Amino acid sequence: MSECLFCQILAGDVPSIRIAETERAVAFMDIYPAAPGHALVVPRLHVEDALAAADEDLAACMALAARVGRAAESQLGATGITYLSLARPDAGQTVFHLHVHVIPRVAGDEFVFPWAPAAGDPAEIEGHAARLRAAL
Ligand code: AMP
Ligand code: ZN
Repeated sequence: MSECLFCQILAGDVPSIRIAETERAVAFMDIYPAAPGHALVVPRLHVEDALAAADEDLAACMALAARVGRAAESQLGATGITYLSLARPDAGQTVFHLHVHVIPRVAGDEFVFPWAPAAGDPAEIEGHAARLRAAL
């Protein structure tokens, strides 16, 4: 059996509450929900995170995540969706099979946004942009 929890879920070796599937991606409920209706979307093929994933799997996951978000709006009363995908332990990733969190939101809910936006230093932002641009 695979050591990867989400591969075990995809294989049916660990139970899950599936809500949708496509050729490349599967959506199931998060059993430790950050908000009511919290779902996860994963590629069928094992890949650790978004940094390692093929464009086709990233596209398939995000497309299915958007469908799940639209269903959360129409069926669960969500008025917003927070999409999250953590990559690597230092970002807080705990399950090392790419997944997109689909977290239904409503105004004034208890979900805590992970940062309080504040204006950055323009020169520093330009410097980071130049280094990223050179690699892209
Ligand atoms: P992350 O911290 O981004 O790697 O997220 C992993 C997510 O998997 C967490 O939100 C967990 O609540 C969720 N999770 C862990 N075990 C299971 C499981 N057996 N079924 C569904 N979701 C799970
Ligand atoms: Zn896996």
